[in-house]
Amino acid sequence: MKIKRFLSLPVMAVISLMAFVYYITVFILIDDWVGSQSSPGMLNASFFTVLASFCFFSFLVCVLTDPGQVPSSYLPDVEGRENMDHANDKDSLERKRCDKCFTYKPPRTHHCRVCRRCILKMDHHCMWINNCVGYWNYKAFFLLTLYATIASIHSTAIFISFVLQNDWDSLKGRSFKIYYVACGLILMSLVITLLTLLGWHIYLVLHNMTTIEYYEGKRALWLARKSGQSYRHPFNMGAYKNITLILVPNMLKWLCPTVVSHLKDGISFPTSRDSS
Ligand SMILES: [Zn+2]
Ligand SMILES: [Zn+2]
Repeated sequence: MKIKRFLSLPVMAVISLMAFVYYITVFILIDDWVGSQSSPGMLNASFFTVLASFCFFSFLVCVLTDPGQVPSSYLPDVEGRENMDHANDKDSLERKRCDKCFTYKPPRTHHCRVCRRCILKMDHHCMWINNCVGYWNYKAFFLLTLYATIASIHSTAIFISFVLQNDWDSLKGRSFKIYYVACGLILMSLVITLLTLLGWHIYLVLHNMTTIEYYEGKRALWLARKSGQSYRHPFNMGAYKNITLILVPNMLKWLCPTVVSHLKDGISFPTSRDSS
């Protein structure tokens, strides 16, 4: 059933791109640069293979993991229920209901129009993994961008070292040069795109925010300033605590996309108000 998620053009494109970058790096660039049988060649090829495997594994986890289904039994707590009159209470409950699924939405849950359901701690719907990025697969998504960025930087560094040491006039023919220019352009655009994406998600992790919450927060801040109040993202517990809440408290397990033992139900989250 989940295997069907791979039957999507963008997912196939990502797999082909990974295979292409792996092939040119290990079988062409490293070989042309220092020779694949030399020790620097073997060292670089092994390092790149490990990185590419981590990257591919994180990608599979992102595609195959359910990002977060809202339990059908979920009922929100209405804050200060006893102090509220009945009408207010009902109104407050109604605001927590999804107007498409007609079920209650836990905090940080949003409705995805592509998946046609509510997703716990939804970040965004990503067509490249044909899945939503949410509570259960955000760590794998973050690691996927991290590994992909490091791998593309490594590949580009090999490409640049090769270009710098080469005597271009002696290279075999014009089509050969065009081939290298094309590889260089693909690698550099990958590095720029992935670095931007990674930088953005590092910012989000450090603030314990989702992409949706970033935009909601900007609006909330603007509204608060207009009425002379202040606004702070409620789930921001400080940079280090935020990292541990998303990646797992044990630092040794930060880099494994399937270690998510720290995640509970995706229904309640600590807030800075609880700890103060
Ligand atoms: Zn919904
Ligand atoms: Zn979605």
